[in-house]
Amino acid sequence: MNENTQIPYGAGSLQCRICELVYIPDSQEDQERHEHEHRVLICGGLPLKVREFLKAFGWGVAFNDGGFERHKEHWIKDTETAKRAVVFAFWGRALTNGIPENDFESFMDAFFMFVDATVARDEAKLDRAHKAIKRWEKYG
Ligand SMILES: [Zn+2]
Repeated sequence: MNENTQIPYGAGSLQCRICELVYIPDSQEDQERHEHEHRVLICGGLPLKVREFLKAFGWGVAFNDGGFERHKEHWIKDTETAKRAVVFAFWGRALTNGIPENDFESFMDAFFMFVDATVARDEAKLDRAHKAIKRWEKYG
């Protein structure tokens, strides 16, 4: 579990693809901070870059004055935030439909795998991802 969400970041640290935090896994202080970050997200909060991503494109479309294209230029290389936005959209729908909060970590891991496989057009990984996310289809 978490192989799709906790990425080596160097010098013994990891970066969490869910909340964006870079942390030292053995640090008690980091563990507490990380748990707090996830607590907020489990309840429906969004990571900072996802919020900024949504606002940028929302305002860009709402004004319809070229802002969408300007924002696209800024965000086009940040595929990680785009993937995170998609995963959180799935989480938001599942949360609305009553998914148990305890499923958050495994749900995130499975849906990051699903989004990665979909974007990479990796059929073998996509097959594994479909099996992994199947248990939550009743919340979709
Ligand atoms: Zn995290």
